[in-house]
Order: sequence, then structure tokens, then C-alpha cells
Amino acid sequence: MEQAVFDYTRQDAAGVCSTKHAWAKVPAPLSRPERDALIERATALLKAQNAVLVAHYYVDGVLQDLALATGGCVSDSLEMARFGRDHAAQTLVVAGVRFMGETAKILSPEKRVLMPDLDATCSLDLGCEADDFAAFCDAHPDRQVVVYANTSAAVKARADWMVTSSCALEIVAYLHAQGKKILWAPDRHLGRYIQEQTGADMLCWNGACIVHDEFKGLELELLREQHPGALVLVHPESPRSVVEQADVVGSTSALIKAVVEGQAPAYIVATDNGILHRMRQLAPGKLLIEAPTAGNSATCKSCAHCPWMAMNGLANLVECLEQGQPQIQVEEGIRAKAQGCITRMLDFVAAHKAKAAGMKAGIGAA
Ligand code: SF4
Repeated sequence: MEQAVFDYTRQDAAGVCSTKHAWAKVPAPLSRPERDALIERATALLKAQNAVLVAHYYVDGVLQDLALATGGCVSDSLEMARFGRDHAAQTLVVAGVRFMGETAKILSPEKRVLMPDLDATCSLDLGCEADDFAAFCDAHPDRQVVVYANTSAAVKARADWMVTSSCALEIVAYLHAQGKKILWAPDRHLGRYIQEQTGADMLCWNGACIVHDEFKGLELELLREQHPGALVLVHPESPRSVVEQADVVGSTSALIKAVVEGQAPAYIVATDNGILHRMRQLAPGKLLIEAPTAGNSATCKSCAHCPWMAMNGLANLVECLEQGQPQIQVEEGIRAKAQGCITRMLDFVAAHKAKAAGMKAGIGAA
């Protein structure tokens, strides 16, 4: 069955998803002494406050290193949710974007969840406003509501299932096998990819990630000609013309795994370039090449780096620990409802761990 797309007219990269505000708040580069002093201060504050740093692969490499050095984690959003929930620390500091902080708070309401900057959001979240989404759900009561992690707590409160790119394929395949029809939101590219892989009946919201949406199929073809031995690794939030050229399609964790375990000497990587930091650490000696976006032209909105992820820096991390804010708050009624779809996903993943295969042949996606 063909994927049907619900055309959400407010999804507009130049309007509601404008990145201008975010770029203006990206911290300026630090000198070596400034950086070292802030790392020392952040380390001391994390320890003194029994706090743990939970960072995404797309944030600055310095924050990723700090998270690992202080007993925190660097991971995809599925593992961030699991790690935050299961860790004994009473303060979680989430270096990522707002929905990640909200997910942590939804799962651990008794914990204090700090973030360096609450304005760090996501075009998928911005492009899926809760009231509009509720109307969409109301119009299709016969469908299971499956939402991507990159949504607000209020949108999750309307969902039956939350998924991340690590487990979306398996969960939709499971629902499809039960004869369920699906209402999917918000990423149209990931929705299309999953629909094509599973054959499920999916009605999709018309959202997009401003970073992955920028990867270009034609430019990728030309780049592949220059690097004939390179494997192409693609996150499924990318357009079809890019996904079609992939050797591996998968979540950030799956793409890292593909580089670490792959035999090829070179890899073209189509996801946020923040991931290259961890890939270089785990697979030194392998050539990593960024997949092409539109380049530095007038139309380039992202250049393969998420401006909201880039808002996380050492200075605002230290500041949030010193001041105990900004903190993530989620209204209890919404939190309790949203918890159901996240817990369902975590339980599914735990139960199906052994079977969890990659999003493309042979590559683990978790
Ligand atoms: S990279 Fe894309 S999906 Fe991830 S937070 Fe940024 S805008 Fe959202």
C-alpha cells in the first residue's frame, strides 16, 4: 500500500522551523585554557551534585567526552531514555534537545532534569503542534498512533507508541503483523522508509528534520564516484534519493556500529556531522566523509549540523549546574499519559532485544 501523507501546512523551514534564533545562541569557540577550566568546573559540579551527564552523539565532542569521563553516557535517544531512567543519580543533565529532556522527566518525575538551554528544540517537534496533532488523531480513530521520539510531551500523550530510529522498524512490523493500521508522526522520510520496509498501512504527518532533509541524492552520486570503495551510511530521516544509495540505513548507534565493524577503509556518512567525533574515536584510521548537503548556498539551512544540538556548550552546562536551572517541567496530567507510550517502547525493546536486527540486512540498529 502506498504511504499517504497528511500535508501539514505549518511545517515550514523558513517559518515555524526557522533556525535563525538557534544559530544566534550557538556558543562561541573557547580558548584551550577557557575550555579546560570549564571542564574542571563541570566535573566538580556533577560530582558535588550527584548529577550525571546524558549526551547525544550530535552535541559538541567536548561534551561527549565529558559525559564519558564522568560516568554519564553518549548515545542515541533510545539509550539516553533508558540510561536516565535506570541511573541512580537524582539529577540528570541532558545535553541534547528539549524532547530528550522531556523524555527523561516523563520517565523519572522524581529526578531533577537540567538542560543547558531549553530553547534547543527540533524541527520535527516544532512542526507537529499538539492541538493540530490531536485533531489529526481524532479524524482517524481506527489507527494506532505511533510517534517518533522527536515530539513534545503533549504529542506523546496522544500516542499509543513512541519509537526511536533504533526500534521503529521492529515496532511497526509488529503492529502490521497484528493487522493494525498506523498513524505516524512526524518525520515523513522515516515514515516512508518504514512503510516501504514493512508494507504497513501508514498515514504520515508531513514533518522533516532540517538537517537530514538537506542531504542531496545527485551530489551523493557524484561523491560516490570519487570514492568507489566507500560504504554509504544513511540515517532514515534522509530523503529517498539518499536512502536508496545506502549500504547501511539505521539509527546513529547502528551507523557507528557499521563503521566500527565494517571492513571498508572509507565511509560516506549521511547524518549530523556531530557523530563523526565518536566514530573517529571508535574507528581510528578509517576515512569518514560527510555526505553532501546543498553546500554553503542561499538554500542551505543546516550544512549537516543541527543548530539546536549546537546550542549545548560547556559554559551553559556549567551555568545550569550552578543555578539549578533551566529545569525541565512536564505537567503531571500530560506526563502520566505520555509515559505509557514510552514505557511500551522500552518494554518492547527489552523483550525483543535478542531479535533486534538492523534497519537493513545484517546491521544491528540498537
Ligand atoms: S538533527 Fe534533526 S531530528 Fe535531530 S534534533 Fe536536530 S532537527 Fe531534530
